[in-house]
Amino acid sequence: MKILCVLYDDPKKGMPKNYPIGSLPKLGKYPDGMTMPTPKSIDFKPGELLGCVSGELGLRKFLESNGHKLVVTSDKDSEGCKADKELIDADIVISQPFWPYYLTRKKIESAKKLKMAITAGIGSDHVDLQAAMDNKVDVVEVTYCNSRSVAEHIVMMILSLVRDYHNQHSIVKAGGWNIADGVQRSYDVEGMHVGTVAAGRIGLDALRKMKPFDVHLHYFDRHKLPDSVEKELNLTFHESVESLVKVCDVITINCPLHPETENLFDDKLISKMKKGAYIVNTARGKICNREAIAKALESGQLSGYAGDVWFPQPAPNDHIWRTMPNHGMTAHTSGTSLSAQARYAAGVREILECFFEKKPIREPYLIVKDGQLAGMGAHSYSKGSATGGSEEAAKYKK
Ligand code: NAD
Repeated sequence: MKILCVLYDDPKKGMPKNYPIGSLPKLGKYPDGMTMPTPKSIDFKPGELLGCVSGELGLRKFLESNGHKLVVTSDKDSEGCKADKELIDADIVISQPFWPYYLTRKKIESAKKLKMAITAGIGSDHVDLQAAMDNKVDVVEVTYCNSRSVAEHIVMMILSLVRDYHNQHSIVKAGGWNIADGVQRSYDVEGMHVGTVAAGRIGLDALRKMKPFDVHLHYFDRHKLPDSVEKELNLTFHESVESLVKVCDVITINCPLHPETENLFDDKLISKMKKGAYIVNTARGKICNREAIAKALESGQLSGYAGDVWFPQPAPNDHIWRTMPNHGMTAHTSGTSLSAQARYAAGVREILECFFEKKPIREPYLIVKDGQLAGMGAHSYSKGSATGGSEEAAKYKK
């Protein structure tokens, strides 16, 4: 079989010769008891770069020794790009949300042999899920692999926005010592109302991680959490996102991108937020309206916006979120720490082993199966597509 793997570029100075820490901590199961990825074996050293082109998700030896062909590229967006050419006769395509290969309907229909799209990570909105269902292409992801990595990033971003870390750091880097400049927008998070849009694996972990800061915790989700969890965290459940945003000083967004959540944070919803609130969005860029966020930061309706997700990706060089005031954006990095890469590379290997051996892929890994939303897809997504406008990614110049 032919496997097309679309990965982000190598480091500008080439692959690292060594890494800051020698070995990753050993983790047991995920908090809900789910086991970590369990492939029969791996051909990489956990803790090394795997998500870039030369890292190849550690798959080459395994695939080639089993008679398969692996093509790896980062060239994914412009007309005539390598990924589009290789897709035509590919059986399986693997892509990461950090550097998403947008599988639009047109591309899916161009790939007559395509059987499965694997997301090396979590969040399969870069695939036109409706087109995948219509063309019987299965879509799977490595559920839980980086949920907790993202929750750590959320805590970092909430604290850095509210305390105004980026500004304070840049003063020091510029050789300064201007205390008043450093603190004129700086607050403690203690006592604030912090709410999450969606309390799935990431949202719930972020709430748990914020609890020790002595904040008031809130959530909105299409699925209510068990009473015991609400009690443990002293959580307030909201029936609507409007009710949530009205009372929160900090909102973190943790739902997948699908037609129900696309453009959720538009001018109207942002105007219902508490004046001067903060948003941390590590879910997907398209859940927030690009112009509405920039406008709200300019006017002071929002005090800060941070996250690592954009639309499209890579974000065009003139994307307004690069230059808007009081933002703490990074490129899409939260779910691809070296720790997370080891888990999702192992998860992809597990999925491929199951596929080749015709064994069932774990139910929670399924998004689309046999033309239907399935597994986590049925729990967390709605039918339709959220890939519209993705061709703008070709505007990014390295
Ligand atoms: P999850 O499936 O465990 O949780 C998703 C939650 O969203 C579920 O509880 C679901 O009920 C809720 N939800 C779905 N639609 C909703 C709606 N319309 N309104 C309210 N709630 C809704 O997934 P997860 O592991 O928590 O990941 C969530 C999302 O975070 C992913 O789909 C992905 O987009 C994003 N993510 C980003 C990164 C990153 O690197 N930045 C990494 C992993 C995941």
